[in-house]
Amino acid sequence: MQKQTEAIHTRYQQRDAYGALSMPVYHCAAYEFDNVHDMVESFCGRSDMPDYSRVTNPTVTYFERKVKALTGATDVVAFSSGMAAISNALLCVAGQGKNILTSRHLFGNTFALISRSLARFGVEARCCDLTNLQEVESLLDTNTCCLFMEIMTNPQMEVADIPALAALAHARHIPLIADTTMIPFTEFSAKALGVDVEVVSSTKYLSGGATSIGGLVVDYGWSETFTRNMRQEMLMNFGAYMTPHVAYMQTLGLETLHARYAVQAAGALQLATALQEVPGIVGVRYPGLPTDPYHDIFTRQFGQRGGAMITIDLASREACFSFINRLQLIKRATNLFDNRTLAIHPASTIFGPFTDEQRREMDVFDTTIRLSIGLEAVDDLLADIRHALS
Ligand code: PLP
Repeated sequence: MQKQTEAIHTRYQQRDAYGALSMPVYHCAAYEFDNVHDMVESFCGRSDMPDYSRVTNPTVTYFERKVKALTGATDVVAFSSGMAAISNALLCVAGQGKNILTSRHLFGNTFALISRSLARFGVEARCCDLTNLQEVESLLDTNTCCLFMEIMTNPQMEVADIPALAALAHARHIPLIADTTMIPFTEFSAKALGVDVEVVSSTKYLSGGATSIGGLVVDYGWSETFTRNMRQEMLMNFGAYMTPHVAYMQTLGLETLHARYAVQAAGALQLATALQEVPGIVGVRYPGLPTDPYHDIFTRQFGQRGGAMITIDLASREACFSFINRLQLIKRATNLFDNRTLAIHPASTIFGPFTDEQRREMDVFDTTIRLSIGLEAVDDLLADIRHALS
């Protein structure tokens, strides 16, 4: 079955009592058992029967089942946000005295999570250039608990060699954990590239037009302990499970993902190509452009569609602010992969809390604007951009 078909026709765990065609929202905290045996089996994780919605819920389970069928994962756990998925995955492998080998090219909150929040509990953030395999290898040691990366960094648009990083991690018997938010997991196989645990902000492509905040840990069976602990320890003790209403909306979003992504990625390529010729724009980055420095590795790993994010560089910070203020159609907003096109100045917003020096180390520049391309007609977007630059 092709993925767009599977995304729609994934079977329910059991036939719905009324034959509902879309999975009902099970808005309940707890579930009744016929007998104490069933109750014990459920509480001890030995049966699929739900016990309590902090750890399992039929509507959320159905969303997880869809993702599992689409990725070939061993298990999928849905969280209340992308950050909850990332923090729970890292908490599951990290501990005092351990280090996480990663890059400075990370989403701002993820960088702060690793370098500040986890550091308070004795976990070291070890940053390196993930495109330099020798440097990566030299920094791995017996206390490294995982290699953490984003498959395409934002706003730098850097793409590292995933199979090579996986080989380095596996030689040390540690997992490669990858944030794949930037490209839908239906477009490529993270598992085939060697990723052990995929973390995703489902707020973005999946949610179906920015309907809700959510996250996923897609577990490719790195270890039985990891799989067990994600549910038995992380969900039970940290309590960041996705809510049923969000799972319902994200299930609907997943069903239309294939169609939306095709339009958004085609629009992004058309727009990025046109923006290269627009006066006032000094640089355009989009991995779908054949001239982009990461085009070859991007297409090798993630396929022909280049995603729906573009960055443009203008002459100065002031030029960026004036441009963003003059936009009429494109929205001044954070987030990625909404149905509407969004513009943001990452250096002063997402990376605003960092110092100038930290931003320099992260290669986050004052001259860069990030555009997330929606479903609008490209001519309308181009007209808005030309007007804002004029
Ligand atoms: N990972 C990446 C690459 C992101 O861009 C974001 C949010 O923008 C997140 C994780 C966090 O996701 P959420 O906002 O769903 O917590």
